[in-house]
Amino acid sequence: MNQFAALSEQLLRFSPDALVVVDSAGLIQFANETTRTLLGYAPERLIGQSIDLLVPDRLRPRHSAHIGLYLKNPANREMGARVTDLVARRADGTEFPAGVRLAPFQIGSGHYVAAAVRDMTYQRAITDALVAARTEADRANRAKSRFLATASHDLRQPMHAIRLLNGSMQKVAGPIPSLQELLRRQELAIDHATRLLDSLLDVSRLESGAVSPQLGEVNLGSVFADLRHEFDSSAQSKGLHLEFSDTQSVVSTDRMLFIQLLQNLIGNALKYTERGYVRVAQTFDSECLIVKVEDSGIGIPADKLDRIFDEYYQVDPHGAPRLGVGLGLAIVREVSRLLGFGVAVTSRIGEGTAVSVRIPRQKLLQEAPPPRVDRRAAAPAAVRSGNLILLEDNQSVRVATELFLNLEGYRTRSAATVKEAERLFGAIEPGDILVADYRLDGQMSGLDVLNRMRAALGWNIPAVILSGDLESVFRVVTEPIPQCRFLSKPVDTRALTEAIAALASQAVAARTPG
Ligand code: ADP
Repeated sequence: MNQFAALSEQLLRFSPDALVVVDSAGLIQFANETTRTLLGYAPERLIGQSIDLLVPDRLRPRHSAHIGLYLKNPANREMGARVTDLVARRADGTEFPAGVRLAPFQIGSGHYVAAAVRDMTYQRAITDALVAARTEADRANRAKSRFLATASHDLRQPMHAIRLLNGSMQKVAGPIPSLQELLRRQELAIDHATRLLDSLLDVSRLESGAVSPQLGEVNLGSVFADLRHEFDSSAQSKGLHLEFSDTQSVVSTDRMLFIQLLQNLIGNALKYTERGYVRVAQTFDSECLIVKVEDSGIGIPADKLDRIFDEYYQVDPHGAPRLGVGLGLAIVREVSRLLGFGVAVTSRIGEGTAVSVRIPRQKLLQEAPPPRVDRRAAAPAAVRSGNLILLEDNQSVRVATELFLNLEGYRTRSAATVKEAERLFGAIEPGDILVADYRLDGQMSGLDVLNRMRAALGWNIPAVILSGDLESVFRVVTEPIPQCRFLSKPVDTRALTEAIAALASQAVAARTPG
């Protein structure tokens, strides 16, 4: 026992913390040797002194109040670990950031508190440096994201015009093979630049923290149908089977972001597969609904699997042309983080890749909502195939669009402003279609003009709305709008003509008695 008493004394003596024991009046009853080096007081000088001696003058009133409160309700407690302004005062009046741990105890009827005081100068300096570095990194990241978002947006308009002009040139170039080949190459380059722009904008927006998921009931079957619609023609042009499983599942998630995630996975599967299939299927395990995108493509080497989600990382294609920009899976990573999904990849070289999106069962809503019925009126009967009413405030884009649509065989009437568009209202006839930019100068959007036009006409004129930032548009437009298609700028010229043709044939079908 005596041995242990001696050991305790040595431990107290050489503890790295200054140890003091205070009675219920706040007077120091014990101090160890470390008070000499840490606080500049020989232990015996502290005995009988108020603990306030170790606190800077300016903090004494607050400290006394704290001590009073603590002594009323003493408990083991660490002070200073999170309190940044806790400071101790040395005998020479200098101060240092301190961490203090308190332990109350009783001897006979006497109540005491043991306090261990530690110099936190080094830890505080590290914490301060980390906080400063983090603040700086956040600032730089926000600046980068702002720059990218602005640059991407401002680049979209001229890119949109270039795409339309390229489409027009393909039309007027006629059957001159060398010229057609040049234009086809130019189109590929424009497509690549457009994809890069889209991906940069997506990644910067996701990383800037500006995107917060808008949860809703998302019917997986309708998501699959939209994706089939979007990817069918590119699968067909490569001779690939694109298959979607049947599903009744309804998930609580953000529809736009979920579609964006699957678009990237299906886009990759089609890109990296030359023959065979791309399958999109749902399965379940005990914890998750799993949406699996599987392909019979080139596969990914096992040692690269953990890097493919990094920004700009692309597996070395061994002389083959690079097909993407290396941002698709970074977008998948960010979106799944936002939506609370997991993502897992398995792959075999030469056999194919499977990416599983794991959706926790808590997000699975069992019943599919009933299909929405559109009660708005369809266009009246007896019409001729009509004009395109073009509303676009950017002059070069308007001219390029007009040129392209005229070469495609459409007649156009153009408006540069909402006022000009309103002047055209009286001349609109069933069969006409509105093609409008979403973001117009002034208060009204292209969609506002569409609504105003429909109200004035008394029937639903079909419309194509173009926007450089569809994601933001879909945050405002959450309900489907009948006979209205949204397309992204820079527009894919084929998608534009297909949308117009589909709207025109829908309008004809609606007028043909069943
Ligand atoms: P990229 O734009 O290059 O497709 P991603 O971030 O989408 O960029 O993918 C990163 C890399 O992962 C790709 O460059 C490709 O090498 C590889 N990869 C992604 N998906 C597949 C897939 N389904 N099959 C084979 N390789 C893939």
